[in-house]
Amino acid sequence: MIYFDNAASTPLEPEVAKLISKLISEEYGNPSSIHEYGRRSKILIENSRKKIASLLGVSSSEIIFTSGGTEANNHILWNCTLGLKIINYITSRLEHPAVLRTLESISKHFDLSINYVNVDQAGNTDTGHLNDLLANSPRSVVSLMHANNEIGNLLPASQVKKICDKHNAIFHSDTVQTIGKYHMNLRSLGFDYAVASAHKFHGPKGAGFIYAGSGEKINPFITGGMQERNLRAGTENVYGIAGMALALELAMNDIEKNRKYISGLKHRFKKKIQQEFAEIEFYGDNKKEGLYTIVNLRLPTSKSFEMLPVKLDIEGISVSGGSACSSGSNKPSHVISSLGLKPEKPSLRVSFSKFNKPEEIDEFVKTLKKIISD
Ligand code: PLP
Repeated sequence: MIYFDNAASTPLEPEVAKLISKLISEEYGNPSSIHEYGRRSKILIENSRKKIASLLGVSSSEIIFTSGGTEANNHILWNCTLGLKIINYITSRLEHPAVLRTLESISKHFDLSINYVNVDQAGNTDTGHLNDLLANSPRSVVSLMHANNEIGNLLPASQVKKICDKHNAIFHSDTVQTIGKYHMNLRSLGFDYAVASAHKFHGPKGAGFIYAGSGEKINPFITGGMQERNLRAGTENVYGIAGMALALELAMNDIEKNRKYISGLKHRFKKKIQQEFAEIEFYGDNKKEGLYTIVNLRLPTSKSFEMLPVKLDIEGISVSGGSACSSGSNKPSHVISSLGLKPEKPSLRVSFSKFNKPEEIDEFVKTLKKIISD
């Protein structure tokens, strides 16, 4: 079996699995209880918060635990509308549904103005257009992801921050694909809000967080309890949070080593694909490095490439197809369609982690050759 779908989710770090299985049987106290068991759980949460905050250069009070990236994006965007009373939003058609669909949902209840910043065919954000949009818009929220989860384009965050500052806009970035992949100081990168999801960096599913810079207010999203300083009610996912903090620490400790190794895998993969399949191109910006874990293939429309995710799965290789991947189709996703490349061609996302081996790339190429020659 070959797992090349690490942008969707990563294998759990063995040390994290060990910690979680110990805590799950030993630390069952409710963190809100005042007794010894409760206090121990509470300490686990607060130590995790401190660790995460210090790894990302922010203060503990700026970290709010959530169930993951989707909830975190929902919380921030609803908070901007309900709490900060902002009705102007600037985003991009390439955002994750956790941002796009959430803004659509909010606009069913409030009269939002949503503008979409232009992107070029390689997926790069037009920062000049962003500037123009902000110049014509009263106080706005700019929501642009740090790395695209399908094509891997990286946002020039400091440039966007400067534009946001010029127009007194709030900068929210979906950082789900970059936290744990780069040394990042969330404050100096200039985000007012950022988000993370533990299962993208070898942590457990169901755990994530919001970074809410102290300049901007954050209001409760889920109500009914005093947890997370009244901001997110519900008994905390103690094991998930502790596992996430350890996973982030391990990821950050080895970040340069892993980055070099995974970038090597990505280069090897692209080179082999170019050598063996002249008809396959790549989505995203091939002149820039981009997120080192993701490659997106632009496939020919010929019959032999149809249903490729399913055919690869049958051969024991897990990758990601287009938007309708569960049905086996590799019809372009909303991201690929929004690039405006003609003719529309299917895509195949291959994403790596430190657990992949160079031999798996050779095996992938061999299998793909076999599939398309059948
Ligand atoms: N944002 C991006 C960019 C993602 O890639 C994902 C996961 O696919 C999410 C948000 C959602 O995160 P979660 O699975 O933690 O809800």
